[in-house]
Amino acid sequence: MCSTLARARLSPARTRSKRMAEMTDLQLFNSLTRKLETFEPVHPGEARVYTCGPTVYNYPHIGNMRAYVFADVLGRTLSWKGYTLTHVINITDVGHLTDDADAGEDKMEKMAAEKAQSIWDIAKHYTEAYWADVKALNIRGPMKNGKPDASNWSIATDYIDDMLDFAKSIAPDHCYELDSGLYFDVSTVQDYGKLARAVTEEGEGRIDTVEGKRNAADFAIWRKTPPGETRQMEWDSPWGRGAPGWHLECSVMGEKLLGFPFDIHTGGIDHREIHHPNEIAQNQAFCHCGGLSEATNSGAKVWMHNNFLVERSGKMSKSAGEFLRLQLLIDKGYHPLAYRMMCLQAHYRSELEFSWEGLGAALTRLKRMVMQAERLKDAAASTPEHPKFAPLLARFDEAISDDLNTAVALTALEDALAVKKVDAGIKRAVVETMDAVLGLGLMDLSRTDLRIRPKDAEITEAEIEEALARRKAARAEKDFASSDALRDELAAKGVDVMDGDPLGWEWALEARR
Ligand code: AMP
Ligand code: ZN
Repeated sequence: MCSTLARARLSPARTRSKRMAEMTDLQLFNSLTRKLETFEPVHPGEARVYTCGPTVYNYPHIGNMRAYVFADVLGRTLSWKGYTLTHVINITDVGHLTDDADAGEDKMEKMAAEKAQSIWDIAKHYTEAYWADVKALNIRGPMKNGKPDASNWSIATDYIDDMLDFAKSIAPDHCYELDSGLYFDVSTVQDYGKLARAVTEEGEGRIDTVEGKRNAADFAIWRKTPPGETRQMEWDSPWGRGAPGWHLECSVMGEKLLGFPFDIHTGGIDHREIHHPNEIAQNQAFCHCGGLSEATNSGAKVWMHNNFLVERSGKMSKSAGEFLRLQLLIDKGYHPLAYRMMCLQAHYRSELEFSWEGLGAALTRLKRMVMQAERLKDAAASTPEHPKFAPLLARFDEAISDDLNTAVALTALEDALAVKKVDAGIKRAVVETMDAVLGLGLMDLSRTDLRIRPKDAEITEAEIEEALARRKAARAEKDFASSDALRDELAAKGVDVMDGDPLGWEWALEARR
């Protein structure tokens, strides 16, 4: 397989099916069946993926962004394997309560009240902040029929009429009305909660009882505005003025934009406990489907969940301690793609602990790769046909096909970068092929992009360069006293002068911690 693999992968003349036939089968872990399964698309040659997007009441933290890096690697892998990808990512601007079950306040309404701003302004501000992080992390965003569809994020409030239609169609057989809203009776579908695993803190234990609920796990399809109150976001419905329950939007957008059953549904591991089981119940009700021994009855064939990014002190949160936004990493001097690298180094199903040391190590690894890739920039990419690369491409394909094992795939890319005495155009083609999946954008980065650049540095890069030029001149004249004094001056401003650095860096600013 190895020798034909590389040729097949990059030759546009090959048909898609031929190309797929020559690649390793893609194995993905399905949270619903708890098994690794060979990916077989619902529609031949196509892949349709739905990713639960952010609730835009606050900035995303880097843990949230791990979920989108994972979904991006999945999408890139499907594209690379030759499937025509349609990838829907939604923006939740309504309905998500402070508790994933039906307790607490609406996150958006709460933040709008705290900030004394309109919900629409809050949603716009934080949606744009999320998009900035998406861009900085090389996340492709929504895709339609194999092409980037960057402007086409699916915004929940654009689908209110569809949510009402969906709710009307499931209400007679599956819902009941209380003073507070329309509720889904989970006993009306088979195998409710099959996806969930935790029944303690993250799961049922968190569900507060709403008076009159038939089952503790029943959830709101429509939340009525309490008498005498007005909400900023509310719409008329057969059950009174109010707003949709959070779970409804994903069922509705999934069905409308991808059709049931679609291929893959993704989200963070917390969604496996409440949000996705509830989405599945709604989907079963909508399509009059039976139990979940048939995975497709859930609305999707495969349900995938990334594990959490955690802090040493525990769960990542937007309220406790230092709020780890991507912008904070950037302000401390780290290139955002060092964080993407950090995510790729771990398997998406493993918990990943964030530390500044770990981020620094990921940045160094990225620097080494970029320095090797820089040598290829002048060469035009040709085809990757070369016996030295065939086994590496095969190893890469096997790793990524093994439930997206990016950690091993990265080592194949590093080994490809290290191959000596080969035509630069061939090597560039191999590197670009692998990087199309990993999304580091190696050929677009330069070593100076990756310099540590703390926002509050006391010195500019031009000033550093100027001081170093003076130091060089002093050394040329054997004036070591001046040279040392310049070095000390720079050190006092956080600049490490790196004479004889093996990576060829002349200086580095210290990152802020
Ligand atoms: P939210 O904006 O709260 O709806 O979350 C957006 C996405 O981030 C969801 O897929 C969550 O499951 C996921 N998520 C939340 N916290 C973390 C974390 N610490 N690590 C990884 N993913 C997370
Ligand atoms: Zn969702």
